[in-house]
Amino acid sequence: ELTFDLSVHDLFLCWENGATLVVASEKELRMPSSYINEHGITCWFSVPSLAYQVRLQEDLVPGAFPTLRSSLFCGEALPTIVATEWVRAAPNSIVENWYGPTEATIACSRYILGEESIADDTVPIGKAFDAMELLVLDTDLTPLPTGEAGELFLAGAQVATGYLNDPEKTAASFVTLPDGKPAYRTGDRAAFGEDGNVRFLGRVDNQVKVRGFRIELGEIEAALRSASSGLNAVALAWPGGAEIATSIVAALETEDADIAAIQAAISTTLPDYMVPSMIFCVPEFPKNASGKVDRRGLGEVLVERSRIESEADTSGLSKEAAFLLKSILTHAPL
Ligand code: AMP
Repeated sequence: ELTFDLSVHDLFLCWENGATLVVASEKELRMPSSYINEHGITCWFSVPSLAYQVRLQEDLVPGAFPTLRSSLFCGEALPTIVATEWVRAAPNSIVENWYGPTEATIACSRYILGEESIADDTVPIGKAFDAMELLVLDTDLTPLPTGEAGELFLAGAQVATGYLNDPEKTAASFVTLPDGKPAYRTGDRAAFGEDGNVRFLGRVDNQVKVRGFRIELGEIEAALRSASSGLNAVALAWPGGAEIATSIVAALETEDADIAAIQAAISTTLPDYMVPSMIFCVPEFPKNASGKVDRRGLGEVLVERSRIESEADTSGLSKEAAFLLKSILTHAPL
């Protein structure tokens, strides 16, 4: 979308280098692998959600995209499993994970996938671009040592000076560090790895409190991905937002999955209070205009699904018939 700031990168880089910009139609966006192969695309730049879609369509297979020589991802956390499969699917391509927010003129750092295996469930966001600096700070704005998680701040030439006509919001996000440097508060959690690459640990506000326990939703999502052979997973505080949450629910982006087996598997790795009370299969997660997973929209889908499921009168039906009825009812609004 032209309204997605990252599109500017594609436009100008393409024209600056005398390349051809191949704007994907809506229909082509639904089948990204055909789009790549039919047009002989050489450079790919997308949000990871689109790569997930390729995977769901079972097109992320070794050697699938021989024409690609550059594959860039940005805008959301890039799951390691998706990135690793993309490397195999595009054997002639470099694959990179870029990171950055609009407020720091978009991409600020990158991680180049190589031979080394990635220990985390999501790919590191790597090292800063030349004009930029990544800082992992404590709540009092002091730098944290390697390995310790804190909030990610960005400093350097790309950082904007503030929001237009919004001094309040500007003051909250654009800060001056103790050494006088201006910096942007990203709202992302991160930590420096031993190798100098920054690890992305989720949004600060994806940390919720349930029954007094502080929970990192990203950790639940990682466990779900690992227990479901890499399905796209989202965990949400339930019901309706972190303030009044009493439990966690989760969604897997798939038509169907063995939920009982997945729940059993994650129960062995997560403490009881982190195991979702309900796990839904949602064939396609709602996405925002930039193609990123729309967590709020997904929450609304789950509220509706749980309402329908709880209202379905299955009394007097066999177990199989009850399951069938619920499946039909819960797939209807999607
Ligand atoms: P926006 O400014 O709307 O493009 O969103 C910026 C936000 O997207 C960042 O603050 C991160 O939360 C997220 N983001 C962007 N790139 C990455 C990435 N490579 N890994 C994880 N999150 C990312």
